[in-house]
Amino acid sequence: MSKLKGWKEIPIGGIIPRGGTAYEYETGSWRSFRPVHDKEKCINCLECWFACPDAAIIVEDDQFKGFDLTHCKGCGICAAVCPPKVSAIAMKPESEFEE
Ligand code: SF4
Ligand code: SF4
Repeated sequence: MSKLKGWKEIPIGGIIPRGGTAYEYETGSWRSFRPVHDKEKCINCLECWFACPDAAIIVEDDQFKGFDLTHCKGCGICAAVCPPKVSAIAMKPESEFEE
């Protein structure tokens, strides 16, 4: 087996020049599944807001208000952490939506 490269030999990869660049990059264009929220079931625990890696859940006045679909990449973490007794988020194939 060949020797692994040290960190000084590995080419430079992605560079993050400053904080907050994720807001400028629309990860929503990757999405193949879309989260759909059921307002009637939601208990506003905000577990989904804590867990979303893309800050794609909009909260106002401590209430779930919706998804920022320009940044939601459809990972499904929000649906996975929503309390099972509630299950207020369902992941739907993007092909079910026209926009
Ligand atoms: S699907 Fe993923 S990126 Fe989209 S809102 Fe849920 S946790 Fe965030
Ligand atoms: S995790 Fe589920 S119940 Fe909690 S705020 Fe999000 S959608 Fe509502």
